Amino acid sequence: MERHVYDRMAEIDRDHWWFVGRRKILTALIGRWRPKQGPLRILEVGCGTGSNIAMLQQFGPVDAIEPDDHARAFATNRTGIAIKGGYLPDVPLEDGRYDLIVLLDVLEHIPDDKGALAALRPKLAPGGRLMLAVPAMPSLWSGHDVAHHHQRRYTARTLEAETRAVASRAGVTVGRVRVGDPRSRWGSCSSSGDIAYSWRLILMPVAVREATVVHEVAHRLHMHHGPEFHEEVERLLGRAPKTERAWLKAHGAAMHRVGR
Ligand SMILES: [Zn+2]
Repeated sequence: MERHVYDRMAEIDRDHWWFVGRRKILTALIGRWRPKQGPLRILEVGCGTGSNIAMLQQFGPVDAIEPDDHARAFATNRTGIAIKGGYLPDVPLEDGRYDLIVLLDVLEHIPDDKGALAALRPKLAPGGRLMLAVPAMPSLWSGHDVAHHHQRRYTARTLEAETRAVASRAGVTVGRVRVGDPRSRWGSCSSSGDIAYSWRLILMPVAVREATVVHEVAHRLHMHHGPEFHEEVERLLGRAPKTERAWLKAHGAAMHRVGR
């Protein structure tokens, strides 16, 4: 991946409300659950572009490991700490060293997740803690994910399945379902029945994604935004998409910044 992708990711990690908010939550949790007073010895596994390291350094010295060469180079440059490469469990780490081991959106990418946790267990000092964040929605990302386009593939499969399910309920056919990177729209439906979505839908609340899918499928019946169209949307969705529209209005601009 090219350098500017990491520059952009680092900017998003730094400024996007989701990352900023989560760092505040993590800071509060570590403050509450810290295993001892005084500086903690911390290990971040899978640090990506290093956006959490400064937050973790509030609590003590941080070591980090990251398998992706480009992300690791970026994180090293950004944080000034030496970051180890390699994949768990084949990473040389001292036993009994760490008061806190952190994996943020990492475990779901490791094929042998149990093996990775078992390998980390002996690295904890007595009383040490492991902190894990894993996605409850397929909507969390890191420099590694975006650089490797994991979500786009996932988005395409998810959106295609959801679109076909809604279309069969509506009794209409749809053509190709594509996922792309449009400048301003979240979805579009051509007169031939092809539907295209923004990959960013997968980053949004599920209800917003559902409402967008229903909107595009409803265009198979009405190629306009008149009263019959809105009635069809309500029928297919089971509600008027008021909250979803408000959400897009409030967060759409921020969503368009992701991955730019
Ligand atoms: Zn429309």
